[in-house]
Amino acid sequence: MKKSLPKSLQTALQTALQNSDYRPPEGFAAYPTAIHHASTVLFKDVASMRSGDWKDKSAYTYGLHGTPTSFTLEARLAEIEGGEHCLLAPSGLAAISMVDLALLKTGDDVLLPDNVYNPNRELGRWLTQDFGISARFYDPMIGAGILDLIQPNTKLIWTESPGSVSMEVPDLRAICAAAKQRGVLVALDNTWAAGIALNGFELGVDIVMQALTKYQSGGSDVLMGAVITRDRELNDRIAMAHMRLGMGVGMDDVYLVLRGLQTMKLRFDAHDAAARKVAGWLKARPEITKVLHPAFEDCPGHANWKRDFTGAGGLFSVLFDPRYTEEQTDRFVDALALFGIGFSWGGTHSLAVPYRIQAMRKDWPDAGILVRFNIGLEDPDDLIADIEQALGKL
Ligand SMILES: *Cc1c(COP(=O)(O)O)cnc(C)c1O
Repeated sequence: MKKSLPKSLQTALQTALQNSDYRPPEGFAAYPTAIHHASTVLFKDVASMRSGDWKDKSAYTYGLHGTPTSFTLEARLAEIEGGEHCLLAPSGLAAISMVDLALLKTGDDVLLPDNVYNPNRELGRWLTQDFGISARFYDPMIGAGILDLIQPNTKLIWTESPGSVSMEVPDLRAICAAAKQRGVLVALDNTWAAGIALNGFELGVDIVMQALTKYQSGGSDVLMGAVITRDRELNDRIAMAHMRLGMGVGMDDVYLVLRGLQTMKLRFDAHDAAARKVAGWLKARPEITKVLHPAFEDCPGHANWKRDFTGAGGLFSVLFDPRYTEEQTDRFVDALALFGIGFSWGGTHSLAVPYRIQAMRKDWPDAGILVRFNIGLEDPDDLIADIEQALGKL
């Protein structure tokens, strides 16, 4: 695409340093996707600059709208989800806000599950307070009952399966059927299942959102999000918000996610097997009243998980017996040696975080402190031994 300089043009060193006629030989082949950095994208001539449509991913217009590296990641994510179109955002939360700002305007209404990822709840509050949009919260286990909550101005229903702290698994089919009946769009935060253990589109979801920060990258070192759709017109509406908000991503980060994808299924299955082993061990412990793991019967919505999911990954929660004070359960978490204390998950290291679930989730039926575990890729027997010693510190 770069013009070669006419022979007659004698350039000063400083100009020559910006321009070279060298082209590497054709025919290089390797597995990794090349990392194409760009803000400026060069056009062949003015006519192709004028005819370029940034929404059309068969051509390049500006770094913000993508390079071959980000187009490749978008295409792979769409493939994994069974979607057609994908837009990348600088974080999972940015992907969520992009969907809201694309589809909601003053006077509109959005429904969010009461156990929703907390920053999404905060975004709902902000939209309500400052933007004249009403965000209302529904019981995630409402199922078909959501029909009664849909108003003429309801434009979007967010779902999350399961809720990433309370682990409740909603009846997505029923929610989507009700939404369809009223012509309301459904967005799914599919981060827990990594887009591989739950097919949102097949259940009737219109928009799938992913925090690639979790399993896709897999290294606890990248923030990125994705919004995947099947419908071109819907994708283009969200693409307008992507452009207007300037949701650019760094190509080195894109590369890390592409690299992570290659091992994602193996990692996910390993997290899943280890988490079920650790959860099963916790289930038998007298300190624990409930294991909130979708594959376990204690978990609200377990039947929905069984019907709709093919796996579970590494994230689950437990409820401590209410006889233990928060001071005691904090001591338990502090005593864990192999578990880090920190947010996010999907990386190779195990994590544990205590939550005051009763303050987060309206009408939560149980007393007791909730502790959420992310089971990493350590040997599960070592993790169990670590939990056992920490329970001794309760
Ligand atoms: C982590 C997470 C997000 C947000 O992703 P970030 O990249 O951290 O912004 C959204 N939803 C769920 C369920 C998550 O776990």
